[in-house]
Amino acid sequence: MTETDVVVVGGGHNGLVAAAYLAGSGLDVTVLEAGPRFGGAVASAQIFDGVDVSLSRFSYLVSLLPQQIVDELELDLELRSRRIASYTPVADSGLLIERQPGRATRDSFVAGPGPAAYGAWLGLEADLQRFARVVSPTLTKPLPTAGELRTQVGGGLWDDLVARPIGELIEHSVTDDTLRGILLTDALIGTFASAHETDLRQNRCFLYHVIGNGTGEWKVPVGGMGAVAAALETAARSAGAELRSGAEVTGLEPLADRTVVRLAGGEMIDAGTVLANCAPATLARLLGQRAGQPEGAQIKINIVLTRLPAFRSGMDPTIGFGGTLHLNQGYQQLKRAYLDASAGRMPDPLPCESYCHSLTDPSIVAPDLAAQGFHTLTIFGLHTPARLFADDYHVTRDQARDAALASVQSALAEPLTDCIARDSRGELCIEVMTPQDVEREARMPGGQIFHGDLDWPWLAEGERPETPAERWGVATDRPGILLCGSGSRRGGAVSGLGGHNAAMAVLEERTSFATL
Ligand SMILES: Cc1cc2nc3c(=O)[nH]c(=O)nc-3n(C[C@H](O)[C@H](O)[C@H](O)COP(=O)(O)OP(=O)(O)OC[C@H]3O[C@@H](n4cnc5c(N)ncnc54)[C@H](O)[C@@H]3O)c2cc1C
Repeated sequence: MTETDVVVVGGGHNGLVAAAYLAGSGLDVTVLEAGPRFGGAVASAQIFDGVDVSLSRFSYLVSLLPQQIVDELELDLELRSRRIASYTPVADSGLLIERQPGRATRDSFVAGPGPAAYGAWLGLEADLQRFARVVSPTLTKPLPTAGELRTQVGGGLWDDLVARPIGELIEHSVTDDTLRGILLTDALIGTFASAHETDLRQNRCFLYHVIGNGTGEWKVPVGGMGAVAAALETAARSAGAELRSGAEVTGLEPLADRTVVRLAGGEMIDAGTVLANCAPATLARLLGQRAGQPEGAQIKINIVLTRLPAFRSGMDPTIGFGGTLHLNQGYQQLKRAYLDASAGRMPDPLPCESYCHSLTDPSIVAPDLAAQGFHTLTIFGLHTPARLFADDYHVTRDQARDAALASVQSALAEPLTDCIARDSRGELCIEVMTPQDVEREARMPGGQIFHGDLDWPWLAEGERPETPAERWGVATDRPGILLCGSGSRRGGAVSGLGGHNAAMAVLEERTSFATL
């Protein structure tokens, strides 16, 4: 049996972050990745045969990766701002919001929800920025307490965001249904919930979408998500970590002060510490424990276009597709869709958001195709939980695809399918992934994109952490096994936080042990 200081189970982006920090601090680190490549759900692929376009297959935008991690690991990475935040077609018109709201945003509000709504929206955005500026710097430090953050944020705003369902804040802040829907979507990405859920999982999802780097801005990774994975892989390798692909962990046997890691094929590794980059449900299975199955809530569709389609509203497609395109995501539509899906029906219309990477970063499209006007299109369908596609309800992947395409089509002046490229076999370049597909392709239980429902990124009242792992929000019920991924206290999303915080806990543990 070989011995090592640290085994990381899973070579997702968080596993690579942890490996880079720990190997860089002089520890022997082995990353065991079951699949053929590193990066997990941070991945690019040429999905369509004969079409030289590298799509971000799963995750697509980055907000929560702290600049501190980029700097400390010296990542060769460019995250580019989009000019447009969002466009929401409404009947034959629409609401345009620039990333830095200017005249076009104001005019769009005045023509749509009205000047009062513009003022209310600006006020709410300012409040969210204030909240983000307080919480964001804490994400790479030991967990703060809820009390200290509440004091800094201010009790009123804190209670609106943390103590009561987000639906209440949205409803008393703005009256316009479109605007309410735009705000609510941030609470529903990867989270099957209503605006008024009493366990507040929608509030936690909302907060993760608005606090990244103190601004909540979602940026485009130049070169696609594969470039993020490649930068992290380089950082981990150059720090001296051993990265092994095709190395599936099949069991973990915790001993008094070590853990035996079993691999498919019979190999065993004796590890001082195990970092679980896999989902908590997978970790439980590896430990022989029972665990509930999380549930994904979305469909993801990847498309290559020969050209951008025209909007019914007459909006310039390079603007309308330039940010997040909200489709059938009005507040009432989201409510109906949640009720439909809860009853086992595919929502109709399906609330979707769509995004064109290549308008901000054309480098993912081969130059000859880019010159012809080719673009990429990502569609993320909300309120399509895994249960819809399971035996009980039997919604098919084709039905999901048709619902998503119809949702986009409702905003267009010409058939979307006329604008979709064809692969070498003449098939339309459309890849559809249900939560079950995400589970199979990315090893995410239930297709839950965050490995499970998100946690508050702070200590609850009365919570007293005793170990470094507890202080950093990466503890499990086994002292030598730490969470190191999306399922950790401040995991969720492409952030590297699960990896960073697990690494900091390991280093703190070793320092305190050495000084005893
Ligand atoms: C469709 C989709 C869209 C998303 N969109 C975004 C987005 O735009 N922006 C954003 O910030 N986030 C997004 N997310 C969420 C984000 O991608 C994840 O939260 C994040 O990538 C998780 O990273 P991770 O390293 O913690 O885990 P993962 O990426 O899940 O990596 C875990 C790794 O562990 C490996 N593994 C599992 N079990 C074993 C085993 N037994 N032995 C060895 N290896 C194992 C897996 O193969 C995998 O490589 C999206 C996710 C999905 C699925």
